[in-house]
Amino acid sequence: MPEETIFHKILAGEIPADVVYEDEDVFIFKDINPKAPTHLLLIAKKEADFVPSIADLNDATNHVPAMLISKAQAFAKDQGIDGYKLTFHVGKGGGQEVFYLHLHFLSQQTI
Ligand code: AMP
Repeated sequence: MPEETIFHKILAGEIPADVVYEDEDVFIFKDINPKAPTHLLLIAKKEADFVPSIADLNDATNHVPAMLISKAQAFAKDQGIDGYKLTFHVGKGGGQEVFYLHLHFLSQQTI
């Protein structure tokens, strides 16, 4: 069993989150401490897609970052956001605090 993170608790509904989009693969919710007018976090929903960090990717999970980027692209298009920044923090030295792989989506535009 992987170590449970705050994002596992959000996914399980044990901690509230401001969810802006959800489908069978991904959960997109507002960052609690936004660094831009729109600051969202994208996480994979499927247990098989769980990986703590980019540094832990393997053959079974290599598709996850591309999936998250693709979902961010589709979400931005749907919301009419044409400028945004996508970031993965990798490891403590890279500023990662929550060890549940997530993609930061930041934009000066609001949703
Ligand atoms: P990172 O530094 O890449 O691990 O980013 C973790 C992000 O999760 C930070 O930007 C936090 O503000 C955000 N965060 C932590 N707890 C919550 C929460 N309960 N709901 C939403 N965002 C959170």
